[in-house]
Amino acid sequence: MAKRIVILGAGESGAGAAVLAKKQGFDTFVSDMSAIKDKYKAMLDERGIEWEEKKHTEELILNADEVIKSPGIPNEAPMIQKLIAQGTPIISEIEFAGRYTNAKMICITGSNGKTTTTSLIYHIFKKAGLNVGLAGNIGLSLAYQVAECNYDYYVIELSSFQLDNMYDFRANIAVLMNITPDHLDRYGNDMQNYVDAKFRILQNQTNDDAFIFWNDDPIIQKELHKYGIHGHYYPFAEKKGESSAAYIENKQLHFTQPIAFNMEQEELALTGTHNLFNSMAAGISANLAGIRKECIREALSDFEGVEHRLEKVCRVRGVDYINDSKATNVNSCWYALQSMKTKTILILGGKDKGNDYTEIADLVKEKCVGLIYMGLHNEKLHNFFDGFGLPVADVQSMEDAVNAAYKMAKKGETVLLSPCCASFDLFKSYEDRGEQFKKCVRNL
Ligand code: ADP
Repeated sequence: MAKRIVILGAGESGAGAAVLAKKQGFDTFVSDMSAIKDKYKAMLDERGIEWEEKKHTEELILNADEVIKSPGIPNEAPMIQKLIAQGTPIISEIEFAGRYTNAKMICITGSNGKTTTTSLIYHIFKKAGLNVGLAGNIGLSLAYQVAECNYDYYVIELSSFQLDNMYDFRANIAVLMNITPDHLDRYGNDMQNYVDAKFRILQNQTNDDAFIFWNDDPIIQKELHKYGIHGHYYPFAEKKGESSAAYIENKQLHFTQPIAFNMEQEELALTGTHNLFNSMAAGISANLAGIRKECIREALSDFEGVEHRLEKVCRVRGVDYINDSKATNVNSCWYALQSMKTKTILILGGKDKGNDYTEIADLVKEKCVGLIYMGLHNEKLHNFFDGFGLPVADVQSMEDAVNAAYKMAKKGETVLLSPCCASFDLFKSYEDRGEQFKKCVRNL
């Protein structure tokens, strides 16, 4: 009898995993506690894959030989607990997909900068003419592409939740951007659990593989020696170090290996210090893949950026509006504020993930001329920031937030949406929050 694979959660990754499982000849079943989107229902129906929605039927799930879990489902969910108790293996969609392809895997993780760096690497590879797919949290799932496409390379963004359920997957190039507190609510409020999850990107690497990482990150520095790392090290840093694969000197990016070349900092498409790091990580990955330096330079300078990440919306009456809705933790807001060249009105707030705002306190004092708290529960923001003596506004919708910012801002200043928080209290997603921001700004 065919092995039974049950997929919990039928979003992009679950539906893709089902397509691949069916193609591989498994007895495949999909179950989702919420409603399944029509496009995924159609995808399953077309292939004769059985599914259920708005419930988990125990008899159809607990008889699985293996379960593929959506990264959105926490381990505490009752069905997961039951599966763990009876010893059913639970894996992620990426782990599953990795079994059925020999493509080279370039995997990117970190607390911030994953999507930007992943998109940048994909852009360079594509421009160089490589047969490459983009996967992970972006676009089509890896499993779907493994089932339906035939790529030689995959550039994959990996969240800590995806890494949690990965065991045998091997990244040929692993990129670790940084580690700062995030999602601690899902890691028993224990930072070490989160750090361990991130370092799982290195498990199964061999001497033939590469490990690219930000060498200035204090947590990475401290933790590096704890794990048995086999991949060749390619550190990047702001200042030149003994073994730096990339660094900055005289306003130039220097790449050292395998091919040494330079690039003017001002030619980079993406601005801000954090994007220097993203560009270095992407450049090293491309260099390792044997892409010509001319092509890397060109691609790093014509990349168009990613929506909702420090995205310029427009200028209204001399005030710039910037959408950084994807800044869902305090550290990413720090980088956003740090890259502001004018006085700034900051819109922040939302669903707090155990935030400590101390990290941005100095930058808020230095750069901000007004704060707009946008969330269902703004008490924590009041308690922390009101004492700074800045004008503040308390709002519960994007329209009110943009109107309040419009009233506060003077010519030459910037209004920055960089919320430090998840969006789920007032919005469907960070994309929804960013879209609403852009719409309201354009309506001013
Ligand atoms: P992720 O996919 O890890 O959430 P993104 O590339 O989507 O990261 O960027 C999210 C936000 O984090 C951006 O809006 C930006 O403000 C900030 N950011 C981007 N790159 C970095 C980095 N290397 N270090 C710190 N913050 C960053």
